[in-house]
Amino acid sequence: MVYRAEYLWIDGSEPTAEIRSKTKVLADGETPGTWGYDGSSTNQATGSSSDVVLEPKFTCPDPIRGGDNILVMCETFNPDDMTPLESNNRSAAVAAQEKYSAMEPLFGMEQEYTMLDPVTEWPYGFPEGGYPRPQGPYYCGVGAVKIAGREIVEEHTDLCIAAGLAISGTNAEVMPGQWEFQIGPVDTVTVADHIWIARYLLFRVGEKHNVEISLAAKPMKGDWNGAGMHTNFSTKQMRESYGAIETAAQSLGAEGKPEEHLAGYGQGIEERLTGAHETQRYDQFSYGVSDRGASVRIPWQVAQDQKGYIEDRRPNANADPYVVARLMTETVCAALT
Ligand code: ADP
Ligand code: MN
Ligand code: MN
Ligand code: MN
Repeated sequence: MVYRAEYLWIDGSEPTAEIRSKTKVLADGETPGTWGYDGSSTNQATGSSSDVVLEPKFTCPDPIRGGDNILVMCETFNPDDMTPLESNNRSAAVAAQEKYSAMEPLFGMEQEYTMLDPVTEWPYGFPEGGYPRPQGPYYCGVGAVKIAGREIVEEHTDLCIAAGLAISGTNAEVMPGQWEFQIGPVDTVTVADHIWIARYLLFRVGEKHNVEISLAAKPMKGDWNGAGMHTNFSTKQMRESYGAIETAAQSLGAEGKPEEHLAGYGQGIEERLTGAHETQRYDQFSYGVSDRGASVRIPWQVAQDQKGYIEDRRPNANADPYVVARLMTETVCAALT
């Protein structure tokens, strides 16, 4: 049977890369091979040398089309020398994973996002042109006054499960119209592949319901929480000993490391990491047990069990998960070597 492959890739949009996709119709038994697109339309090439090469890297069932149809996550390459495009951060994540595979890194990422009216760009659940009651009742809330958009969340979760993604939960967030899903625990490259595909599916559900999905780090200025992508991380050693947990947390605060990491943790990091709204300031580093005002939190249960994982609370919702996962793998695994 003829089937369709939806090729997905990351573009060169500024200041934050976006996902793009197009459809290839394949004959029965044909596999999705190398393809290309017009990079001059995605801020990735000039018009006179516009072709970008698409290499399929990860496939899963397409839960929107169903049947034999598939989604294909691709890497992008320059046609001249087949080097990765600047926006192709997957290549380096694969290298980090291969280098440290013996340490068995695992990731769980918490992707927060905000639903917006596509015309006014005002959050879903905010009164038109106005503000709802202050934050407090909305996080994990239930009921019409507190919650907007749950039907979108449920539909998205069904799609992620049908695609075989490692979705591990969802919750309503602190600001109305803000939600979260979690992917994990899976390896360095898989967590990022799954986050990008889950984002794609979320944007598609938003299209259907005419709701804009925003990954902006601070969609509402003022006394409203920003949107992050908390990144939970462990290695085999950390899953066995508390000494390794402390070494891992300290490694992220070592000389030069906070700056190196924040540069890869998404656009608008200073706006979100203010020291308020459950964040540590961007120019300070701290870690602590149960501390949601720290850069890195050691969950209470992990201190209890004396083993487990750490949570880096700094990445923005709009960060590229390939970059975040590579940085954490490199920094922590080097410290634990
Ligand atoms: P929070 O309490 O910060 O809201 P969540 O429950 O939203 O935490 O997310 C925790 C994430 O941590 C989940 O994605 C889960 O899969 C992941 N996780 C659990 N155990 C580990 C581990 N050992 N290593 C890495 N990630 C883990
Ligand atoms: Mn969470
Ligand atoms: Mn959250
Ligand atoms: Mn968290």
